[in-house]
Amino acid sequence: MLVMKFGGSSVADRAQIDKVLGVVRAHQGRRPLVVSSAHKGMTNALIAAGRAAAEGDAAAAEVPIALQQKIADELEVPESVLAPFYDEIRALLRGVSLVRELSPRSLDYISSFGERMAVRALAEYFSHHGLAARAYDVWELGFVTDSQFGRARPLPGFEAAARERYQELAARSEVPIVTGFIGKNERGEITTVGRNGSDLTATLLAVALGAEEVEIWSDTDGVMTADPHLVAGAKNIPVMSFDEAAELAYFGSRMLHPETLLPAMGRDVPVRVLNTNHPEHLGTVIVQHAPSERAALTSVAYKEGQCILTVRTARMFNQVGYLARLFELVSRHGLVVGMVATSEVSVSLSASDEACARRVLQDAAALGECRLDTGKTILAVVGDRLPQTPGIAAELLAALAEVGVNVEMISYGWGSINVSMVIDDREIDRAVKALHGRLFERP
Ligand code: ASP
Ligand code: MG
Repeated sequence: MLVMKFGGSSVADRAQIDKVLGVVRAHQGRRPLVVSSAHKGMTNALIAAGRAAAEGDAAAAEVPIALQQKIADELEVPESVLAPFYDEIRALLRGVSLVRELSPRSLDYISSFGERMAVRALAEYFSHHGLAARAYDVWELGFVTDSQFGRARPLPGFEAAARERYQELAARSEVPIVTGFIGKNERGEITTVGRNGSDLTATLLAVALGAEEVEIWSDTDGVMTADPHLVAGAKNIPVMSFDEAAELAYFGSRMLHPETLLPAMGRDVPVRVLNTNHPEHLGTVIVQHAPSERAALTSVAYKEGQCILTVRTARMFNQVGYLARLFELVSRHGLVVGMVATSEVSVSLSASDEACARRVLQDAAALGECRLDTGKTILAVVGDRLPQTPGIAAELLAALAEVGVNVEMISYGWGSINVSMVIDDREIDRAVKALHGRLFERP
């Protein structure tokens, strides 16, 4: 069987949903299980309504309901299919507007309606257009999670339950259309796995059910050698390894949620990234080991808005435990660190969370002279064969020097498949174009 996940933009309106119908129909022979996100903009609308209700707006429910109804009208979904959900949203948001309180648990409950309504609208529409389909909430497939609202994860044992439940639904001759993003804890309370989490639901289900592949259908031709909005010459990457894709996802490639790949990685289920608007394109397939006859480099990515915390002191020289003390402080404050570079007298760390980095900064004075630089970008050049290819660092630095971009920090570990460099946010455009031009666009 095959898991096919469609994102919000793929199910944005009738024109898009028709494309999805065509794609699913074309794959029918591979026994697809469809995972769907909410319609584009729906989760945002629900969250905004929740916040408005908590401020006392008693009619906050009407905005997301109108958005859903507009699409339901286009699809000619009978009223009775979605009316119970509208009633529940109204009752829930009315309650929130009375108590003026929005806990993470209530927010997950509110956010869940987007996916619950979308799968029903899709199943209804598909069935009326010649493809028998049936909607499921993912908990009907045994997706029971912990109670970390906003970032819930399935409990151990979910995979066996999912396989058992799938046997029952696979016996029917209808394509299952399953909610992404949401779950239920053991007490039956609705949870979510986190924003943009439908990809993660899809890979978790694919691994549990032993799928031959998981397909992530979105709106670009797979993963590209650079951000196509920035670099006109960006090209599709036909195949890449999980390690490369994980580095790219972390360094801001907007294609995949960083955690999406984790479940598939250990179990060697290929993940294919495809374009709903261009379904004949082969996209990108992400596998355990990419073939070795490829070019040394895969892509250039970047992550802007970073801050760099630097501690300098001569006391560090030849000392035992200095870094341990610094990192103890970092971990006590819960700062997530991206990149690290050290010399004998200084340590620099990058982080996304500036407020948290400021709190570390205040406490780090005892360790040496400290500073925090903000508005920085990490440029990452990724490729499986980087460690075995001489001269790449020279190329990278030369390309940046040619366009006058100053590299403020560099990190490259032993055997690493990623060279990371810190530059100023204002240099992103020039730097990415120069690197891509030199590394990927030369004849
Ligand atoms: N609908 C959810 C969100 O907007 C999940 C997803 O799209 O993957 O975050
Ligand atoms: Mg998404």
